Amino acid sequence: MKISQRAQKLQPSATMKVSSQAKKMIADGLDVINLGIGEPDFETPKNIEQAAIDAIKAGKASFYTPAAGISELRTAVANRTENDYGLQNLTAKNVAITTGAKMALYSTFQAILDPGDEVLLPEPYWVSYSEQIKLAGGVPVAVPVGDSFKATPADLAAKVTDKTVAFVLNSPENPTGVIYDHSELSELNDWTSQHHLMVVTDDIYGQLVYNGAHFTSIAQLADQLDPRIIIISGGSKTYSMTGWRMGYVVANEQLISKIAAFLSHATGNPTAVSQYALLEALTGDQAQVEVMRQAFENRLNTVYPLLNDIPGFDLPVKPQGAFYLFPDVSAALKLSGIETTGELVSRLLTEAHVALVDGSAFGVSNHVRISYATDLTSLKTAMVRIKAFMVQFK
Ligand code: PLP
Repeated sequence: MKISQRAQKLQPSATMKVSSQAKKMIADGLDVINLGIGEPDFETPKNIEQAAIDAIKAGKASFYTPAAGISELRTAVANRTENDYGLQNLTAKNVAITTGAKMALYSTFQAILDPGDEVLLPEPYWVSYSEQIKLAGGVPVAVPVGDSFKATPADLAAKVTDKTVAFVLNSPENPTGVIYDHSELSELNDWTSQHHLMVVTDDIYGQLVYNGAHFTSIAQLADQLDPRIIIISGGSKTYSMTGWRMGYVVANEQLISKIAAFLSHATGNPTAVSQYALLEALTGDQAQVEVMRQAFENRLNTVYPLLNDIPGFDLPVKPQGAFYLFPDVSAALKLSGIETTGELVSRLLTEAHVALVDGSAFGVSNHVRISYATDLTSLKTAMVRIKAFMVQFK
């Protein structure tokens, strides 16, 4: 048997691993609360499901589609991006539909990176960025940032080299839930422009913002989409469509044609039926989006004070978006005598029956990621369990 060097180095997604471990324990009959998962717990809105059923019945799901997606959907994404971001002159040619936002990112890195090209990743960063960059022959460069969890031009300047070609920005951010504001984005835009860097802006959580916070994308600072900027988004989080695997890239036409060429060999096309579902999601009734957003907001507002009441768990700044909390657990380690965050997470799973993700999966130790994409009762019970686990050490 032969396994490539590349495959040998590859680790499965840490967040998916925790989740499947928790799911297995639940299947074995254990009462485990899974806060390791990064997906909304709502069923996809009915109008979206119905559009998919209609597409199947009309015989539209049976055949290959163009590699970058059906033109109606590409146009719908272009229109929504123009409206939501205040941009002009976007057309279907600026859009590639992909198999989830993961493939949007994967095909983007394949299209922009040459071997040895460096990509700046503010810490903590979402697990798959670094692995996908490596799979494209690039070099992920972790950028330590201050307590706000937000990268500044000074942070990036400390890590930029003559090999740096791109910067990945995720706002609202997984795992911290922080949002960059207009002036912070403006500074980053100026700095990356001066250094001729591409900016991959992962806006997948853009509609999940809370308590009056406002989402701005670095892509919307000008009237036209800057050819340096690549927007990544999709239906998974906003429309609770993780299983449908619908993402997209919005970028310069020339780059999109290369991404489409890559996709034509990699996936052939994104699943036909899912494309009709995303078309309805983007163009149909948006009422459910607000219902789900409000549910997340309510969960955040309930769980945040409970979390800060747990001995050794510190999260001084309340997150404003996505559906994660990323507390510092240094004090919890000190209090309990548990040596590593990995061990803390593992003991919380086996003893308190709560699944969390070790922050080192996002490049930062002494933190855990807690997802609040689960119902309020389970969230409250999970906080009680974690607190009881920690109180035994006091
Ligand atoms: N980008 C970020 C920041 C995410 O958290 C996720 C999913 O967890 C994705 C992209 C991938 O989304 P999708 O499920 O559409 O592939």
